[in-house]
Amino acid sequence: MKIEHQKQEHTGSYYAATVNELTDYPALEGEHSTDVCIVGGGFTGVSTALALAERGYSVALVEANRIGWGASGRNGGQVINGLRGLDKMAKKYGDGVADTLENLRWRGNDIIRERVEKYSIDCDLKDGFAEVAVKPRQFGILEAYFEERERANFPHRYELWDRNKTCEMFGTDYYYGAFVCYRDGHVHPLNLCIGEARAAHGLGASIFEQSPVIGINHGKRPRVVTEHGHVDADSVVLAGNAYGQLEPQHLSNLVFPASSYIIATEPLPEEVAQEINRDDVAVCDVNEVVDYWRLSADKRLLYGGACNYSGREPKSIKSYMRPRMLAAYPLLRDFRIEFEWSGKIGIVLNRTLTVGRTGDNVYYCQGYSGHGVCASHVMGEVMADAVTGTLERFDLFAGMKHYRTPGPQWIGNQIVALGMLFYRLKDKL
Ligand SMILES: Cc1cc2nc3c(=O)[nH]c(=O)nc-3n(C[C@H](O)[C@H](O)[C@H](O)COP(=O)(O)OP(=O)(O)OC[C@H]3O[C@@H](n4cnc5c(N)ncnc54)[C@H](O)[C@@H]3O)c2cc1C
Repeated sequence: MKIEHQKQEHTGSYYAATVNELTDYPALEGEHSTDVCIVGGGFTGVSTALALAERGYSVALVEANRIGWGASGRNGGQVINGLRGLDKMAKKYGDGVADTLENLRWRGNDIIRERVEKYSIDCDLKDGFAEVAVKPRQFGILEAYFEERERANFPHRYELWDRNKTCEMFGTDYYYGAFVCYRDGHVHPLNLCIGEARAAHGLGASIFEQSPVIGINHGKRPRVVTEHGHVDADSVVLAGNAYGQLEPQHLSNLVFPASSYIIATEPLPEEVAQEINRDDVAVCDVNEVVDYWRLSADKRLLYGGACNYSGREPKSIKSYMRPRMLAAYPLLRDFRIEFEWSGKIGIVLNRTLTVGRTGDNVYYCQGYSGHGVCASHVMGEVMADAVTGTLERFDLFAGMKHYRTPGPQWIGNQIVALGMLFYRLKDKL
């Protein structure tokens, strides 16, 4: 099978330019045998590999490009609680699973913090995430978030900021209020991903880069096939997300790749950085199609947004994103944009993760719909449980119903694009 993205180096992002380590794991050649083989070296794959390696299983992780090459090494770095679809799962399964779902919601934040500490991963992890209203009517959404935490006696710090406080904290009158949760936060995602891969490798996991998987041969011990070798395993986990193309008979038209774009300014003077984000929190608006931004460790503004299904990339990401940034921050007009990049988000029609099996012992997990930094860490644990025989949480996800668009994937993309147009119009009203 022909794989679209393969044997590439990292995109020209701020993250790739400031990475702690340029990984150079060998390509897969010859015959290998392992307990679990994982396809895809983003957070889902790496997180599953690390969870399994910690439990003493032998693991082979096979990546078409470099560890963290996909969305995991390019994203906004916003560490946000929750997983897409938990609300729908609560409705389907009822009160009996309420505690399990609540644990899933926050588990990703814990896993990331635990691993950063345990493996001394240098990835600029910081506390604090603000959801901001860009319209007066959206303040009610923030109040609802605040009340929900109050009712739950949420044990971590959280605050509701009115318009005045929000203007003061962000140095702009663009926002109408903020709900800030200090259990969420932000991170250099590529350094986190590579650090976790290094930890898994240290525990014995084999990692192969520049090794696109071209097929899966099903059987008692499925075989993961690359151009120059293969891995036989008791179980396989497919973790290609928006870049995945394997097993099309089972997985096509379930997840729709949409591009999101990020620009990074030059490092801002300390007083400007202070003025625009006094508490150094990650920020995201509460629109349906969100803009998100934060300061990097070296005080650049990383400003991201958009959700483009058309497959036609803008000629210049900078020209596309800079006006959005300046709408919120006109005072940044004179600062250079030094990096621009894009990545693919895996969107699911009903915004619920698609999790399941394509055969008895070939598992998949994909479709975070743009909200995957924490969620992929939770799912790494869920997938590690599943392949080692504990299916309770996996089955909750696998039991969710999904819709496929008919015909080829590009038709589905146009249908989804129409849906997004509706949401964009709704945001504008
Ligand atoms: C621009 C952008 C901004 C985002 N911002 C945020 C954010 O701020 N917060 C948040 O929570 N989420 C965010 N997300 C979403 C989040 O990054 C993803 O949900 C998450 O990283 C998905 O991880 P993954 O491992 O499943 O997929 P990926 O990181 O995309 O990894 C998949 C990997 O599989 C590999 N692969 C695919 N096919 C094969 C094959 N055949 N053989 C071998 N390897 C293969 C690919 O090369 C790739 O490296 C953002 C996404 C993008 C694109």
